[in-house]
Amino acid sequence: MIKTQLYIDGQWQSPIDQGTRAIVSPADESVIAQAAEATRADARLAIAAARRAFDGPWRQTTIRERARLLNKIAELIDRDAEKLAHLESLNTGKTLTESRTDMGDIAATFRYFAGLVASESGAVNEAPHHVISRTLREPVGVCGLITPWNYPLLQAAWKIAPALGAGNTVVIKPSNLTPLTTHHFTQLIAELDLPQGVFNLVTGGAEVGAELAESLDVDLVSFTGGAFAGESIMKAATGNFKRIGLELGGKNPNIVFADADLDAAVDYALNAAFFHAGQVCSAGSRLMVEDSIYDAFIGRLAERLPRIVIGNGFHGETQMGPVQSAQQHDKILGMVQAGIAEGARLVHGGKRPAGDVYKKGYWLEPTLLADVTAGMKIAKEEIFGPVITAERFRSEDEALRAANDTPYGLAAAVWTRDLDKANRMSRALRFGTVWVNDYHPYFPEAPWGGYKSSGIGRELARIGLDEYTELKHSYINLAPKAMGWFGA
Ligand code: NAD
Repeated sequence: MIKTQLYIDGQWQSPIDQGTRAIVSPADESVIAQAAEATRADARLAIAAARRAFDGPWRQTTIRERARLLNKIAELIDRDAEKLAHLESLNTGKTLTESRTDMGDIAATFRYFAGLVASESGAVNEAPHHVISRTLREPVGVCGLITPWNYPLLQAAWKIAPALGAGNTVVIKPSNLTPLTTHHFTQLIAELDLPQGVFNLVTGGAEVGAELAESLDVDLVSFTGGAFAGESIMKAATGNFKRIGLELGGKNPNIVFADADLDAAVDYALNAAFFHAGQVCSAGSRLMVEDSIYDAFIGRLAERLPRIVIGNGFHGETQMGPVQSAQQHDKILGMVQAGIAEGARLVHGGKRPAGDVYKKGYWLEPTLLADVTAGMKIAKEEIFGPVITAERFRSEDEALRAANDTPYGLAAAVWTRDLDKANRMSRALRFGTVWVNDYHPYFPEAPWGGYKSSGIGRELARIGLDEYTELKHSYINLAPKAMGWFGA
């Protein structure tokens, strides 16, 4: 049985009140670990340690030392990639292939930010000859990092790499449903000779996250998760006007025009919606298909869906694992029922698969709801499970208006062979990422984040490092003289 602890001020320790939480396998509901469940009091200790570390010698580290640190972390991720991938699949239910991909992306993220940090240099500004004017980048301070359960270590990496690279200290709080890979990652950190308090792990629930958001000793909170928690973090952050980064949910249209390569579009419609059982913030769950090909397209999907192999993520033939929790399972089924009640047509799925192996665990069939209209709840709200809702559109203008008519703005895709149309749609869609003739790719070099209610700020890319820095104008007068403004 795996047992996890907190990591505060360079020490492994139990929560003050000895709290633990059983971590459950989504595949069979067995208990796979006992995780330390911290309270606000533990979070306060971690914040104080991070504060002391930030105000101490850590501030004097050079960009070369921090770049070397990130590269070293990437090496340790590579060394333990297989172990980490197993833990991620065990805890989230995703297939081992998906988890292995995550681990490769995580190491790449650390290497990308290592390169970026190493290339940092302040700017010297034009100024009178007796003045040295420089623009300096400095760390923000103590960073509270709060991550969700769908991509536990990947989301953590997007925050930890730039935060440490820029010279901050961190307190990370993973979701209390999926702490295992962040815990193992912390064991890797403990192998390094980081000063005490630079990196702290506090596993626990919403109250620990709320303490990070409220604490006057935390200078920045970077949060990935749902809108409900995001809103309370934004409000709490006003206590000291701390910096916030919010990566929230999405309702992401996947728009297929009649002139698209339909073989590719059908295939990617499945990947867009069912990758990690649809528990992806950028999942292309809102399928929009041009009227003239709509019926044929739905027919081709209906033929593919029963062939998707649902199963334990550790089995080689599995294409889709379970959803992560009982709560998520029930919520998704509730959304499907709401859609049917509003008039959507259930083409496939909408239930637990038949068979003894699916009796325990949080299993769902890949689901297709057709004849959805833009006003329905299932076309507006994030479902976050293996469900495609399919809408019909008659013109480019109608598709654009319907796609943009959402409070969210995380990701969208367009399928067409017409480059002019592809360009027009890419420009007019109000989303942080727009793919054309593809779905899901992202790179450490490209920014990630949402328009509108999908969040504030960006992760990855140059801006993903800048978010963890303060800009300072340093002005040094080398030859001060009385200026006489108020006379002698
Ligand atoms: P969640 O909001 O329930 O929890 C996210 C994290 O916040 C967890 O660590 C949780 O313990 C913590 N938390 C909960 N309430 C809090 C509070 N009041 N104050 C501080 N912390 C609090 O989200 P989830 O269910 O874990 O994740 C799913 C959501 O995350 C989906 O909406 C998904 O779209 C979103 N997400 C977005 C991105 C992105 O890049 N935009 C990536 C992954 C997931």
